[in-house]
Amino acid sequence: MINDLSVSDMVKKFGNFTAVDGVSFDVPAGSFFSILGPSGCGKTTLLRMIAGFEEPTSGDIEIRGGSMLGVPPNKRPVNLVFQHLALFPMMNVAENIAFGLKRRGVGAAEIKKKTETILERVGLPGYGEKQINQLSGGQKQRVAIARCLVLEPSVLLLDEPLGALDLKLREQMKVELKKLQAKVGTTFIYITHDQSEALVMSDRVAVMNKGRFEQVGSPQELYGKPATPFVAQFVGDNNKWSGKVVESDSEKVILLTDEGYTFQTKPHGACVSGGRADLFLRPEAMLIEPKDRTGLNVFEVTVKSILFDGANSRLLTVTKEDHELIVSLPQNRRFDHIEPGNEISVGWHPDSGICFGAEE
Ligand code: ATP
Repeated sequence: MINDLSVSDMVKKFGNFTAVDGVSFDVPAGSFFSILGPSGCGKTTLLRMIAGFEEPTSGDIEIRGGSMLGVPPNKRPVNLVFQHLALFPMMNVAENIAFGLKRRGVGAAEIKKKTETILERVGLPGYGEKQINQLSGGQKQRVAIARCLVLEPSVLLLDEPLGALDLKLREQMKVELKKLQAKVGTTFIYITHDQSEALVMSDRVAVMNKGRFEQVGSPQELYGKPATPFVAQFVGDNNKWSGKVVESDSEKVILLTDEGYTFQTKPHGACVSGGRADLFLRPEAMLIEPKDRTGLNVFEVTVKSILFDGANSRLLTVTKEDHELIVSLPQNRRFDHIEPGNEISVGWHPDSGICFGAEE
């Protein structure tokens, strides 16, 4: 498989502080790759090194097989879409898009053709004459992307481009951006701190924490098989229990939680008998059981509130020990009667727990 981008052992230090700490990854041509992590984890610094605005302390960046070390930003086959778009307000849409082509000395007829084609591609045919302030937030977004794509970069870098949009538009643009990427076939490197953006749009996601990649995988892998407790917590919603490992072998782990519950799960990260462990359970792994049922991993909770969200409603529940747990509410009339204050039994299958050994 051809890689559009290969980053190897990238390090960036600012004085004594290491912002990017030995990051390596490959991005196959034509894919949507996201770098997901909390504020300050080093995402922007990594992107700026790929774009050429920041020199790495060590490591290499190759785009389509050629090293970019020492290559100035305007000579790299990449383009960057900023969160604040940086459109020129005094120019109309077509002039904004033509700007980079003009600087490259492309002729007027060619510019016109390319501008029309790219506006069509991003779903804004005939918008060339519009002023920037006549556009909606989502349309501005598309013009900013069109302005970069018209230069035909090998790799398009996007730095939290949906951050400035309101929630509804952000939801819409997630789907649109994914479709647009699939249509144009350009490799997208997308940075975000929003896990739902990364999961919805990406072919692969790197989860970054404190300058390092904790895991690189498909959205399904990150959600279903998180490699570290950080990934388990950062990607998707979770219920968490901490406790002591009573028994651990290759088949099962028995955990005595700090509240006194005994749970059985499968080993995930290394769990040592006698050591401590953290257990993560997705809300949809918690099943509502018939009342008074006993059995493996079954216990009682009280419903505190119903977090109604149409198709994905959830229950906020609490154990006797005041441990809050989120339980997905299946769309099933059988559960229509559940109300705040009800005591219900919940349980989970040993295969669905995600258990990691923890520090003492
Ligand atoms: P955010 O989502 O908030 O933008 P980020 O993950 O993009 O965060 P970076 O902007 O890459 O994080 O910053 C990573 C760390 O490096 C931060 O602690 C930041 O303070 C530090 N840093 C970034 N640029 C510089 C600089 N020029 N000089 C010193 N420290 C810097």
